[in-house]
Amino acid sequence: MPEASRKSTDAIHDGVDVVPKDGVTKSQDLWFDDGNIVLQAESTVFKVHRTVLALNSTVFRDMFGVAHPEDGEQLADCPLVDVLDKSDDMWLFLKAMYTPGYCETVVDFPQVASMLRLASKYDVKYFRTLSVAKLRTVCPTDFSVWNRNPAVSHPDKLLTLARECGIRILLPAAMYQCCLLGQDYIIDHVPAREDVKLCLTGRQKIIDAWRKMVDPTSEDGSIFRYSRSSCCQQQMRALMLEPIIWAIMLDSKIHVHDADALEKISSAAWQRLCVDCASSLRRNVEGARKVIWNKLPGFFGLPAWDELKKEMESEGSPN
Ligand SMILES: [Zn+2]
Repeated sequence: MPEASRKSTDAIHDGVDVVPKDGVTKSQDLWFDDGNIVLQAESTVFKVHRTVLALNSTVFRDMFGVAHPEDGEQLADCPLVDVLDKSDDMWLFLKAMYTPGYCETVVDFPQVASMLRLASKYDVKYFRTLSVAKLRTVCPTDFSVWNRNPAVSHPDKLLTLARECGIRILLPAAMYQCCLLGQDYIIDHVPAREDVKLCLTGRQKIIDAWRKMVDPTSEDGSIFRYSRSSCCQQQMRALMLEPIIWAIMLDSKIHVHDADALEKISSAAWQRLCVDCASSLRRNVEGARKVIWNKLPGFFGLPAWDELKKEMESEGSPN
């Protein structure tokens, strides 16, 4: 963070250049001489403009509308507002407000998370929408996007962030990714008790749904249906005896239906199938994964995808 220290122990003013109070540091690039409000986040102070804050944030607009900050503490001839946010987060938030296109350049997860937290807290719709759009590339709603993207390393952080900022559209994919990392991961990493419960229950529902589709005796139709009734029956039976298939059937190794699932199954057993049966099985597995994906929000006690999308779109109204 581009902050430089400049402290004074004895004065609030030193001529026209104003020195912040003791133990507090001026932001190097977000301290404007013609600013008319000072925000203090931890030990950093930012001298900015009320109009800019109010134009971007309904929370600041309302704050300036009802309160008379002139009556409170002053710094550098301006009202001083203690914002209770982390200084790094506030720097990023203000930097984005003052620099057109800056928010678009933020891609690092901790920074996107900071931006989303502050955008949610201060109701800056543009930053919030943009941050959510970035997170939707790793917590997608569409199966095709999910298929293209590698899993994130800490889905529990995404889950926590989505809860904190009230963004339900990110929850199914974040929870699903926690599920793919296993029961112990959920218990060890997901902080909220209610979410641990939802993840564990959802995980079991996913396993049950998957198992039903793998089960060759299932009336719903197994993924082991093949293209021609007389073809490859023996090979298909052999395939069903593969340990990986039993892992799906009997155990909780649901990672097997992640994007690499086909590769794991196909390695040796698929070599024995004819081209038609192999491609038919491939299609069936892909179809089964899609069925699971479409039902995903419901497994975690959430409304269907369409409703979650509508909920997000309805936020799009201007400030
Ligand atoms: Zn065949």
